Amino acid sequence: MEKSPPYENRVGWGTHWYSLLWARRGGIVRGMKTFLRFIAIAILLAASACAQMSSGAAYPSSQQVSAIYPDVEKLYIDLHRNPELAFHEQRTAAALAERAKALGFDVTTGVGGTGIVAILKNGSGPTVMLRTELDALPIEEKTGLPFASTVTTRNAAGDTVPVMHACGHDLHMSAWVGTAELMVQDRQNWHGTLTLIGQPAEEIVSGAAAMLKDGLFTRFPKPDYALSLHDEPMLPSGVVGFHAGYFRASADTVEITIFGRGGHGAAPHMTVDPVVIAARVILGLQTIVSRENNPMDPAVITVGSIHGGTVANIIPEQVKLQLTMRTFNPEARKRMLAAIEREVKGEAIAANAPKQPIVEVKSGTDAVYNDPQLTQRMAGVLRTALGPKNVVEMPAEMTSEDFSQYGLAGAHAVLLHIGAVDPAKLEAARQSGTMLPKLHTPQWAPDREPTIKAAITAETAILLDLFRNQ
Ligand SMILES: [Zn+2]
Ligand SMILES: [Zn+2]
Repeated sequence: MEKSPPYENRVGWGTHWYSLLWARRGGIVRGMKTFLRFIAIAILLAASACAQMSSGAAYPSSQQVSAIYPDVEKLYIDLHRNPELAFHEQRTAAALAERAKALGFDVTTGVGGTGIVAILKNGSGPTVMLRTELDALPIEEKTGLPFASTVTTRNAAGDTVPVMHACGHDLHMSAWVGTAELMVQDRQNWHGTLTLIGQPAEEIVSGAAAMLKDGLFTRFPKPDYALSLHDEPMLPSGVVGFHAGYFRASADTVEITIFGRGGHGAAPHMTVDPVVIAARVILGLQTIVSRENNPMDPAVITVGSIHGGTVANIIPEQVKLQLTMRTFNPEARKRMLAAIEREVKGEAIAANAPKQPIVEVKSGTDAVYNDPQLTQRMAGVLRTALGPKNVVEMPAEMTSEDFSQYGLAGAHAVLLHIGAVDPAKLEAARQSGTMLPKLHTPQWAPDREPTIKAAITAETAILLDLFRNQ
């Protein structure tokens, strides 16, 4: 089967067609020459206009991204070397604020703690927000990179802890700056208000709420659309993953204190053993998921911490548990939180505990809901910008993200993921069944150049589409 010719050849075919026509008619009516020349030129002009349109749709080109990349990479390395924990991102926020100011953005710092808001008003049009996170994690870096972090700091409890960008927020910040630069370069071709935000404390799912509480959507223009990209350890670098609808789960932490009556380990009949109550509670909680929850609503209860007792032969006075609960469905969330309390209290009554247990719910964040229509629209834009093979649908996960708050506050919001692993390594690991480093591990090192470049391309292409095609 004949392949469709490349674009230049099609233009050539047009010229050839024009020549044939010219030869056939040329000797008959002289006046026709001018007419045909006019038609042919019109066709060529139209073809040229189409060529320009298609190259316009491909903004930013790989050359445009490559031109700014060395400077963006410098920023990435600097941010990676100097990570800061949640709500302590002073240096990080200052670095981003300086970059945004230099590009002509109107920058406000200290929003919701250490957050920054950078606004570029560029005529009338929609308001579009691009969010990056600012914070890093208390993890000791073991990537072996020449620019690995050796930073330590004091955490909230006063302990000295190592700090590392183990979730790729440095990568998101670098892409954010690169995108800002390309949007400024192309400002004649779009209209509207571009709001770039640097959000603190994503790792403790608190920064989005803090920024909103501090007037993100009231002191500053409320966005029609909100976008964020997160690096992804399960996709090859340069590939964007999307998921319409619920994408990340809600998260609640529940702290439980179970009281008993302590005594000698050899005389349990003289005591009420809180360790045994805690054991029953842990198993009982799992039946909330398996027996009370609709199996069509994914849910997780994980007891991640249990503390009680000192030595083998003493029954303690109390046991403390900490659990995380995840779900997508807000109704299921309410029902399960109530069931946890009922289960804990019920087991305490059943064991004849001397005191009611304490059940404290520390709500984390709501589920991330990707606006389905907007997600599909973005996927379409990305297929053009990155090529259809580089845009894939990905499954939802029970991990959490406070990006959910922007959607709940009224923006049409979409969180996308960007593959960040060398494709060859990913394939080799798949074939050999080995595990590669994931996010939040000391070895996490994204495949930086292709990932940052693809993130900049994806963000810029999406922003331009949202500004241009209302
Ligand atoms: Zn993280
Ligand atoms: Zn993250």
